[in-house]
Amino acid sequence: MTEWSIGKIKKIKYWTKNLFSIIINAKIHNFYAGQFTKLALDINGKKIKRAYSYINSPSNQNYEFYISNIKKGKLSPYLYNLGINDKIFISKHASGNLILNNIQPCENLWMLSTGTGIGPYLSILQDKVCFKKFLKIILVHSVRYIEDFNYLNLVKKIEKNYFDKLIIQIILTRNININNFLYGYIPNLIKNGELEKKIGIKISSHNSHVMLCGNPEMIKQTQDFLEKNKGFSKNLKNKNGNITSERYW
Ligand SMILES: Cc1cc2nc3c(=O)[nH]c(=O)nc-3n(C[C@H](O)[C@H](O)[C@H](O)COP(=O)(O)OP(=O)(O)OC[C@H]3O[C@@H](n4cnc5c(N)ncnc54)[C@H](O)[C@@H]3O)c2cc1C
Repeated sequence: MTEWSIGKIKKIKYWTKNLFSIIINAKIHNFYAGQFTKLALDINGKKIKRAYSYINSPSNQNYEFYISNIKKGKLSPYLYNLGINDKIFISKHASGNLILNNIQPCENLWMLSTGTGIGPYLSILQDKVCFKKFLKIILVHSVRYIEDFNYLNLVKKIEKNYFDKLIIQIILTRNININNFLYGYIPNLIKNGELEKKIGIKISSHNSHVMLCGNPEMIKQTQDFLEKNKGFSKNLKNKNGNITSERYW
């Protein structure tokens, strides 16, 4: 049974018609960077709950979530229409394995995401422990248009302090021919070697861990390729591997 806390909306950022962030004040239990919780609203007499990843670091009590407003979705359009000081249910307990505690130290940590799937990585990067554990962190974020990379400023700020450790690669799926970006789908850009060429680092099972978050098709195709062609394996509770993933649907 979910133990709910009643939180209040402190701030809302409307990035586009489909993307927004909410910041909640609430009393919740500690969580690890990269974890998710449940948010819920009473809608027509029913509590509708969905999972959302924390994007703030665990030490920051402004609980922030980056959300896609899904057309005809049962919860997200209602979250989009919330106002300041509105009440919202938030699960006191966080869950999820997209966390660094479960990952063996290695040279390179690849963080691959689509859309709002960047959320857990923002929490991990703001937590900063990651920079002690890995030589290089490569954040690969796929969005349709550059305007959809709403946390670019935050990521650039972190990069300034960790310029020798953090590499950011933006992938666009809709605009073409914009300098310094890659164009296409993550699994294809791994298969054809373009991602590795652009970054200048090989995705090798000998020295890397790959995290995948967001679109289930991106996760499936990337994981299949890395397992079949590059010797990667899933990171399991009872068997260390080098792929950790979280599907958003
Ligand atoms: C572990 C976990 C963490 C999650 N964290 C986030 C998060 O931080 N931010 C976030 O926006 N969503 C996140 N999700 C998805 C979220 O839980 C909901 O599924 C989403 O908000 C849609 O809910 P809904 O009730 O509006 O739509 P529903 O009525 O439940 O419709 C669901 C349909 O919407 C589509 N969909 C779901 N999520 C997305 C998405 N993010 N982008 C595009 N299409 C989607 C799928 O086709 C899915 O079948 C997460 C899901 C999981 C399992």
